[in-house]
Amino acid sequence: MDNTLVRNSFQKYFSTSGDLYFSPGRINLIGEHTDYNGGFVLPGAIDKGILAEIKPNGKDIVRAYSVDLDEYAEFGLEESDKPAQSWACYIFGVVREIIKRGGKVGGFDTAFAGDVPLGAGLSSSAALESTFAFALNDLYGLGIDKFELAKIGQATEHNYCGVKCGIMDQFASIFGKAGHLIRLDCRSLEYEYVPFDPKGYKLVLIDSVVKHELASSAYNRRRESCEAVVAAIQKHHPEVSLLRDADMAMLAEVKNEVSAEDYMRAEYVIEEIQRLLDACDALEKGDYKTVGEKMYGTHHGMSKLYEVSCEELDYLNDVARECGVTGSRVMGGGFGGCTINLVPEEKYDHFIETAVKGFTAKFGKEPKVYPVAISDGARKL
Ligand code: ADP
Ligand code: MG
Repeated sequence: MDNTLVRNSFQKYFSTSGDLYFSPGRINLIGEHTDYNGGFVLPGAIDKGILAEIKPNGKDIVRAYSVDLDEYAEFGLEESDKPAQSWACYIFGVVREIIKRGGKVGGFDTAFAGDVPLGAGLSSSAALESTFAFALNDLYGLGIDKFELAKIGQATEHNYCGVKCGIMDQFASIFGKAGHLIRLDCRSLEYEYVPFDPKGYKLVLIDSVVKHELASSAYNRRRESCEAVVAAIQKHHPEVSLLRDADMAMLAEVKNEVSAEDYMRAEYVIEEIQRLLDACDALEKGDYKTVGEKMYGTHHGMSKLYEVSCEELDYLNDVARECGVTGSRVMGGGFGGCTINLVPEEKYDHFIETAVKGFTAKFGKEPKVYPVAISDGARKL
């Protein structure tokens, strides 16, 4: 990302210059609806993020300028009322959460801009939180470890932005590493870097521009299905406390004790946890063909068993297959958002053109295209 705009804005507003910090958005290659079932996810940081220039101002206020929105906000360090602008709540939340943990921060000035598309499922909000959590920790020498920085971002979403998210987005934004994805165990929070360096392939997101309107009530129903199946399995296997602990044989045992719908939901989750582990094995061997097959498997499961896809996403998945794309699936919780696609370089242009043209003709709106590269996490520039 070009620094000039942020640099110039900071100079214009505050007549000085400060330090530059950057944190990325993220993708998740595979592992959807696995987090609340105690399974794994496989995110990676991307080459798009939030860039902020920051300088302590010696006062007890924070003065922030959003370059992209051309808006200014100000709040006191002691204030407990959220700022009016929703973007400023993220900065406010990070500051409050650091103070809550005993971190001694002073007032500061900041101007920031970003190139993560907002609300597309690439977690521009985590990029924003991570930028400020990382920067304030560094500027004030607070010695907060990286895991806690991610939790500060997550707590910001919970307590100041009304989003009860898991830890994946902030985790990936902070811990990201070029050439690697991160296999995160959502139960133990242990993690491992997995090599991801697909030479000859491109990674691209296609945004269906469908909004996730059904998502929250459907999401709750999916969770209830998972819990119902766990409860049934538990009667036979008391050691099972989440679907993570179950296998297909255990599920088969309770087939007559759960609804057909709950059964399908659990089938998807159990398979998805295994698919992710298989994809990690394939990544260790550099076998991107198998990784791609697993991605298609996820899409199929999300569409037919978990039933969280939609016509637009299924269409994009079909086009990917027809164009010889190696792997494609809906990314995120479903009901809209993007597909993530692993595309052989020589097929890239044809795929994008076919998908954009076909989608626009069929649905009367143009999908957006976001090429991404797996990159490093939060850092000072
Ligand atoms: P996402 O899926 O991208 O995380 P969210 O709705 O969680 O979507 O977060 C988007 C919000 O984050 C925006 O409404 C805005 O408040 C804030 N935000 C993200 N990027 C920027 C930016 N570049 N400039 C200002 N605010 C931003
Ligand atoms: Mg978000």
